[in-house]
Amino acid sequence: MKKPDISIVIPLYNEADNIEPLGHAILLAMQGQNYEVIFVNDGSTDGSAKKLKEWCAVHTNFRTIHFRRNAGQTAAMDAGFKSAAGEYVVSMDADLQNDPADIPALLEKLNTYDMVCGWRQKRNDPWIKRISSTVANFIRNKLSWEDIKDTGCSLKAYRKECLNRIKLFNGMHRFLPTLFKMEGFTVIEVVVKHYPRKFGKSKYGISNRAFRAFIDLLVIRWMKKRTLHYEVEE
Ligand code: UDP
Ligand code: MG
Repeated sequence: MKKPDISIVIPLYNEADNIEPLGHAILLAMQGQNYEVIFVNDGSTDGSAKKLKEWCAVHTNFRTIHFRRNAGQTAAMDAGFKSAAGEYVVSMDADLQNDPADIPALLEKLNTYDMVCGWRQKRNDPWIKRISSTVANFIRNKLSWEDIKDTGCSLKAYRKECLNRIKLFNGMHRFLPTLFKMEGFTVIEVVVKHYPRKFGKSKYGISNRAFRAFIDLLVIRWMKKRTLHYEVEE
């Protein structure tokens, strides 16, 4: 296979019923583009591995990294990013809540920006999730001196050379826009579509996200505060 221009990285944990429809949606959206898809199977136990093998055997620009056991979404994204061959990298969820049809518009913006973040202006999630996300975004922006409308949206595009400079820690995929800005890279948000989850279950609730994300936020705040600023005079 010739070197792709674009790598689409998809972390995936127990999403067996989503794999085929997602594959078809990507094929449709990416027609005529030179791209690869890297599924990262984060230790699924529901038959996702078999579905992935079947799909990738037929579609040669799709491949899968299989983790031995569940290591978390950030780890899965990191493995995909490191393995990406394209100059442009896209991340998205496997659950069909994001729409691959939005990818070309994101890529277009990478001509002028280092990172493009999807903004789910019209969220299609249960009300409890929508409210907790609004509160989380507010607190996050306040405490980390940011103005990012929807950092929780996984649909994002990055220049690979910039991604190479970012070191990720567990949970830190939620702070990628800030981590990019801290390196001096440019970030923009664009409105993307969002659908309700049809198959499989969400892996997060308030209990396993709010507290941990808050600790991570304090770390980001500390990092921003302690960033080195100096000018050499002579
Ligand atoms: N995911 C993963 N490992 C995990 C948890 C989630 O790879 O330990 C994947 C999951 O399969 C999905 C994406 O990360 O593709 C986002 O998860 P989910 O849709 O459950 O999150 P939500 O949209 O509900 O915030
Ligand atoms: Mg989801």
